[in-house]
Amino acid sequence: MTTAETAEAVAKGFRKLYGATPDGVWAAPGRVNLIGEYTDFNEGFVLPLALPHTAVAAVAPRTDGVLRVYSADTGTPVTELRVDELVPRTDAGWATYPAGVVWALRTAGHEVTGADLYLSSTVPTGAGLSSSAALEVVTALALNDLFELGLKGPELARLAQRAENDFVGVPCGVMDQMASACCAEGNALHLDCRDLSTRQVPFDLPARDLDLLVVDTRVKHVLGDGAYAERRAGCEEGARLLGVSHLRDIAYEELPAALEQLAEHERRGEAADDRLRRYVRHVVSDDHRVEQVISLLDAGEVRAIGPLLTQGHASLRDDLRISCAELDLVVERAGAAGALGARMTGGGFGGSAVVLVERAAAEQVTSAVVDAFAEAGFTPPRVFSAIPSQGAHRVA
Ligand code: ADP
Ligand code: MG
Repeated sequence: MTTAETAEAVAKGFRKLYGATPDGVWAAPGRVNLIGEYTDFNEGFVLPLALPHTAVAAVAPRTDGVLRVYSADTGTPVTELRVDELVPRTDAGWATYPAGVVWALRTAGHEVTGADLYLSSTVPTGAGLSSSAALEVVTALALNDLFELGLKGPELARLAQRAENDFVGVPCGVMDQMASACCAEGNALHLDCRDLSTRQVPFDLPARDLDLLVVDTRVKHVLGDGAYAERRAGCEEGARLLGVSHLRDIAYEELPAALEQLAEHERRGEAADDRLRRYVRHVVSDDHRVEQVISLLDAGEVRAIGPLLTQGHASLRDDLRISCAELDLVVERAGAAGALGARMTGGGFGGSAVVLVERAAAEQVTSAVVDAFAEAGFTPPRVFSAIPSQGAHRVA
């Protein structure tokens, strides 16, 4: 379903469910990250692009303090909450996400006095494509417009992140919400996670006869399972030992010296193993790869980014150790079948991979990956094309 079709369906659903006409319809996309993984909470660089898949919400404001939310995708009844009774970690099922956004807005002093919301989303859930951020950002944007809060994309993204971190209780970085809020069609978004400054980087794949395949391995990642928090804590510990506030502050040229400094800690028995060294090496080198990819895209050398994507995957697999057999198989077989480059994307342990291919080779690479999954006895992957799409916007 296109965003326009979903918009029509949610407006109709809203009227039927709430017996009134919504004040508007808003859409916010899921995202894939081209390069720069686990760099966001290190205040480094990322380069996501918005997917054509969106969360779409029909919304009307209320003045009586009541928040009602409904998702056409879950089969659960309407959730009704009071905005002045929202407290972090309230478990309201999927409704925790939009409720968290209302909480974050109100906690930041914005007068949000209630709303009716009807949602439907085409972003696959739990595939590492940020269905949760799409849901948060579409809610934030709708409330921003309806209550005339005057907040810009980056501010909405920060509030959406606060909702997910503090209200839902998932310690994600800010990339997903920024991508959903701020991406532009035909571009990737260079995001500096230190100050949230952004630049649109041309990434017009169709014009260059290229395609970016997203391979959803159907392996569900569970960010709450502690591995993400462990990597994050490890990075913070690495930064502390190296005397910087965040790993972003280690320049690529300084990496050998930084690694030697950490090795010294190991020799003195202050660190059990090479874990922190691996994490630091991943983060600093991936920040550098983001910069290299951007230089190439600015120079119009889109095909040349392929090897950097594949190097990024090796770093996530070997140094950060967040890949899995399915993701490794995608990268290996896609490469063998003629892809220009491939890497896992998102939180890892499943989810999706991105594969850069000549458009003419897309089919052959797709079949090679699908066949490899069948041979290995894995669940068949879902493969689609990631056309760099528009960020969050009002549809009607
Ligand atoms: P990801 O963001 O990678 O897709 P998450 O686990 O962060 O995975 O977020 C998925 C959660 O977001 C779902 O479990 C659900 O609570 C919520 N969600 C996403 N899409 C929808 C939807 N269409 N309707 C209701 N809830 C949704
Ligand atoms: Mg998520």
